Amino acid sequence: MEKKNWRRILSVTTALFLCAGGVQAGRAEGKSPAGERANKAWLNTDIDGSITEETTARIQDDFNLAANKEYILKLKIPAGKTQNGGFYEVGGIVERLRVEAMKDESATGHDAELVKKYYGLLSDWETRDREGTAPAMKYINEIREISTLQEMTAWFADREKGGLFSFSLPSRVGGSFGCLFSLSIAVSRDDPSVRVLSVDPMGISLEDAAEYRNMTENGRIKNEAYTASRRFVLSRMGFTEEETERMINNTFRLETMLSEYMLSVEELNDPANIRRIWNPMDFAGLCEAAGSFPAGEILKGWGLSEGVTFNLAEPEYMKALGSIYMEENLELFRDYTVVRMADEWCGYLDRETRDGATAAANKAKGIEGRAEDDVLAMQMTLRHLPVPLDNLYIRRNCTPELREEITGIIHDVVRIYRTMLEGETWLTEETRKKAVEKLDAMTVRSVYPDKLEAWDDLEFRDAGEGGNLLEATITADRYFRDRVLALLKQKVDKTVWNRYEMPVSDSNAYYSPEDNSINILAGILNGIVYQPEYTYEQKLGTVGVIIGHEISHAFDPSGSQYDKEGALKSWWTEEDKKAFDQRAAKLISYYDSIEPIEGMKYSGRLVQDEAIADMGGMKAVLLLAAEKKDFNYEEFFLAYGKFWAVKRLRSEEINKMKTDVHPLAYLRTNVTVMQFDEFQKQFGIQPGDGMYLAPEERISVW
Ligand SMILES: [Zn+2]
Repeated sequence: MEKKNWRRILSVTTALFLCAGGVQAGRAEGKSPAGERANKAWLNTDIDGSITEETTARIQDDFNLAANKEYILKLKIPAGKTQNGGFYEVGGIVERLRVEAMKDESATGHDAELVKKYYGLLSDWETRDREGTAPAMKYINEIREISTLQEMTAWFADREKGGLFSFSLPSRVGGSFGCLFSLSIAVSRDDPSVRVLSVDPMGISLEDAAEYRNMTENGRIKNEAYTASRRFVLSRMGFTEEETERMINNTFRLETMLSEYMLSVEELNDPANIRRIWNPMDFAGLCEAAGSFPAGEILKGWGLSEGVTFNLAEPEYMKALGSIYMEENLELFRDYTVVRMADEWCGYLDRETRDGATAAANKAKGIEGRAEDDVLAMQMTLRHLPVPLDNLYIRRNCTPELREEITGIIHDVVRIYRTMLEGETWLTEETRKKAVEKLDAMTVRSVYPDKLEAWDDLEFRDAGEGGNLLEATITADRYFRDRVLALLKQKVDKTVWNRYEMPVSDSNAYYSPEDNSINILAGILNGIVYQPEYTYEQKLGTVGVIIGHEISHAFDPSGSQYDKEGALKSWWTEEDKKAFDQRAAKLISYYDSIEPIEGMKYSGRLVQDEAIADMGGMKAVLLLAAEKKDFNYEEFFLAYGKFWAVKRLRSEEINKMKTDVHPLAYLRTNVTVMQFDEFQKQFGIQPGDGMYLAPEERISVW
């Protein structure tokens, strides 16, 4: 489960919970009926098949459709993927650049050696096919032989078994399967100079606890995909049909029992719950909170006890775990662990297992084809050797000139943001002053770090030395875990980029409330987002808005609860906080009223932070535009509109609707631009037009 924390311009691809063979998160059946008109008279153009040559609209009625029709019509969803579009094309470029970095024969040094060796293991299909599922069965059989709860606990408590597979890095949320909770490093909400260990519920197949209470189409699709893939993989692993069905059912049963005590995706992302999931405690406190679940014994086995501060994000979950962790339920726990391990590792075995699992899941989701071997190999390299591969990308693609230019734009946007905050007259001067202080204290990380951390002492064996892919993967994960755990003992150093959270080669950008920083990553500065020859207007419409968006997260309903250092401490007067909440409530009810797909309600609670950030960023950048004589607004708005243009499978749109904290693409475009006079004026929008919004109806919080 993703913890409430970092806010990004794009959601991170759902972690490879199912199978590293390239199954994409979320997906569905056939084409949507064309012409599902949602809010106002807008067409939800996100869904594949919703536009045809004949579909037309004026910019004044549906800006997104009019501006992006030709582009969307030509878009193709690549093999093995669920979507494509402006930003996703940037992702595609990064994917290619990373593959080139991975395969660069001329690269030297330890990073290159590690990557080459791992790529060699990934590409050695002769060995992989010969070994079949045996590398995984070594671990799975050990779990199958567990016959008492005490033995199960001992397996969980083994630092190199349950302890290794439970460690979930934030960038691979959902990936933990070793134990019934997952661990990650976080920063103390009371004192942001120290780190804590976050203890969260286990990953669940349907990704959202709400789906187990009341299954929607999104849950049904995921369930079908997992079931198909698991049937295939477990039978490849030699389980009988009867065993396979029992294990699949037991996994679902255990997840259903426990999900009752987990927060839903909507609850987890609700800014109102930020304090609810901050429950710091020491080791003794954690043991007590776990009730009869042997969390203390397990954590002690992993070397994590006295001297560590834990954050038990969802205490009810841990208590519930204690109430069902008993001998009579042993089979549930054992089957769950085996199934999750099979999910996780099917992509590291022979070709038939990998491709069969992917094909089974893709069929349920409506995904056609699969990604090329090299792309899959790159994704796995990035997952297990993120720092070495990121280093190679930086050395090949990043220049000081690029960083200098982007840093200059960041400084411009920060400067204008100060002007914007100072002009927010609905706030008292006291709060406005605090907001400006927070802006001034913001750490800026631009493009790539100067100092590249090196994984100098990581070594693993290649096939010639008797190693195999799974063994190398586990060795790399152990190294990764130990490096991240070592951070627990260190004070937070704001000058260091946290590439464990997100490699800078990702096509993304984020705001981190815990250190009040914006992070504009190298990967996003490709394709449609940035070209050196772009006009000033185009650069502002893409890079400028992205920077403004990230800054705005410091002042959205979540980010605004943190102070300038990153502590969860209010700096608002009561009166101003009330005014802010009222403005946010207006925005929430607007999104609540939208039906992006007929019969499916949207959630303002889920998307409020991101919607506010989109509008805040746009507002700041428009102030910058106003400083330039003859600013070309048309070019600016068209550049903005294009980077959210998307074409995706209907199932992916449903998945986004239910789990993505960002508004759907067509809404990100239309709802954002219609809040501003500059837009209304540029396109001559009149009352009665689909893009018209009377000033008193506007929902921009800032
Ligand atoms: Zn964001």
